[in-house]
Amino acid sequence: MDCIFCKIAKKEIPSKIVYEDDKCLAFEDINPQAPVHILVIPKKHIATTLDLGEEDKEVIGHLVVIAAQIAKEKQIADSGYRLVINTNRDAGQTVFHVHLHLLGGRVMSWPPG
Ligand code: 5GP
Ligand code: ZN
Repeated sequence: MDCIFCKIAKKEIPSKIVYEDDKCLAFEDINPQAPVHILVIPKKHIATTLDLGEEDKEVIGHLVVIAAQIAKEKQIADSGYRLVINTNRDAGQTVFHVHLHLLGGRVMSWPPG
């Protein structure tokens, strides 16, 4: 399958990995939008949040738990961080393999752009 994040998960494309287990992978975003910008992905290919099934509840929850763990390790937990999942065009999704953006290390504006 021609999915860049599947290739990163299989180590066919290099990335700066910060965490890995049997269900997920976390790596640094290639074009960071904050001092800390990490992507947390399921190893299973799921194109968008619209494609999540009942069987994916556990892995999606797992991504959030792992993101919190990484935020603590990166010292952005107390100051605060943002978790984002973009879905489809208007949200700006460009890679169609579900990913959680973990952003922190600076003050974020609200509402988002
Ligand atoms: P989206 O816009 O789909 O929510 O986010 C896709 C993210 O993936 C972007 O922040 C982009 O910088 C990142 N990205 C795209 N290609 C690569 C890549 O090959 N390696 C890494 N590490 N990040 C990528
Ligand atoms: Zn994929």
